[in-house]
Amino acid sequence: MRINNIIKPIITLFALLLITSCNPSTELFEDAICITNTNIIDAEDGLRENMTVVLRDNKIIKVLPSASLKLSDKNDIINGTGKYMIPGLWDAHVHFAYIEDLAPSMFKLFLAYGITSVRDTGGKIDFVKEWKDRAEADPTGAPRVKIAGPLIDGMPNVYDGSDPSRPPLSLGVSSAEEAVKLVDKLDSIGVDLIKAYEMLTPEQFKAVTNRAKELGLKVTGHIPLSMDAISASPGMNSMEHLRNIELSCAEDWEGLKNQRLELLVDGKSDQGGILRSRIHSAQRTRAFETQSEKNTEQVLDALLKNDSWQVPTLALSTGFNERPFLRPEWKASFNYLPQEIENKWLESIAQIATNPPTQADKKRTQWTNDIVHKMVDKGITFMAGTDCPIFFLTPGLSLHEEMAKLVDFGLSPLQAIEAATAKPAEYFDMDNELGLIREGMIADLLILDANPLDNIKNTLKLNTMIKDGKIYNRTALDQMLQSLD
Ligand SMILES: [Zn+2]
Repeated sequence: MRINNIIKPIITLFALLLITSCNPSTELFEDAICITNTNIIDAEDGLRENMTVVLRDNKIIKVLPSASLKLSDKNDIINGTGKYMIPGLWDAHVHFAYIEDLAPSMFKLFLAYGITSVRDTGGKIDFVKEWKDRAEADPTGAPRVKIAGPLIDGMPNVYDGSDPSRPPLSLGVSSAEEAVKLVDKLDSIGVDLIKAYEMLTPEQFKAVTNRAKELGLKVTGHIPLSMDAISASPGMNSMEHLRNIELSCAEDWEGLKNQRLELLVDGKSDQGGILRSRIHSAQRTRAFETQSEKNTEQVLDALLKNDSWQVPTLALSTGFNERPFLRPEWKASFNYLPQEIENKWLESIAQIATNPPTQADKKRTQWTNDIVHKMVDKGITFMAGTDCPIFFLTPGLSLHEEMAKLVDFGLSPLQAIEAATAKPAEYFDMDNELGLIREGMIADLLILDANPLDNIKNTLKLNTMIKDGKIYNRTALDQMLQSLD
């Protein structure tokens, strides 16, 4: 006690001396831009108020309290007072190849809405590689593009190009050896991850996931219909759309799996897309109606243990029920699509609007809400991804809807930001370079007019977007969009 009474005043004295001896000095950062007095938010440090962030070339070179720094007025300064800075956003589930004619508009759409990195989760390798190369050649004029190449599917493969709703995004393999060869080939072409799909047999699936692991590639995908969540989870770094998880949480998950194995054998000469729909119709509603708390718990434990991250694509999966595309501001975003696509989308949504959501759509949304809440409680990791441009999801805008849905379904606004920034960076082992506002990291940053922690929809109040150090103010972003009119 007595010692404490003596030490405390000494410490206070030292602290005072230290403060008075460190008068803020006038600093000049040559060839740099200083964003001053701003509030910065990232997944590690939460909200830090009144900060100054200094950028040079494509890097963040200083992050420090504005009060500790007196800037020379020779600096290039952006006044960030009243603004909120977050790391550039990722859309962790996009398809450049889904509508090939839309791909040339996608870079600008992403950037104009603050999406500075994307993960392409499936498309013809030549096509998506070309967009990745173009992005790499122009880092300040394009989002960062990570690609999976084609979905690796079994036979019959689902996305075989037999129907406009199923363009040829996949390659079907008929043996484990063929699967390994395909993974090797994609790796040699330069994919960033592998996507395993629903028609793979357990043997083919294991061959794909083991080979990818040997090559240091992450694996994402859909749980194959021939498997269940618990047996597939060890091979999967991430899962898309919560796909087929409900089947493994049902009371009779084993009976459902056996029925699927029979349906897969019976339908092996059908088209993949038709066979998959048949299986989903036979099992999904039944699974939603017979969820078991105990089985759900076991599935979630396995996902946590195996670190299988979830990309629930909520804007898509709840979209059947909630129809965000009917909202005026959503329809207005179609204006930035090529005319022919805009017309087609407007026509299709007018058609959909004539039919109310089905009971099955409502059930799916309820289940999704429930399982995402449970996953959040369990501590499972999420990434924000949309599946754009599928189902009228405008590239760029739709990621903000995804973040809002993540918050609706149980994530905090900061967790939703993490799911769209720090986590995708970590997924690609880029966590030393991207996803946080730290010295030494790449300057992919957004400046917002309002606090996204108060309301996650404030991520849409985009004042300035910075990609690889290049600054686009609101006028530049509007021009970018207008060029797509
Ligand atoms: Zn997808």
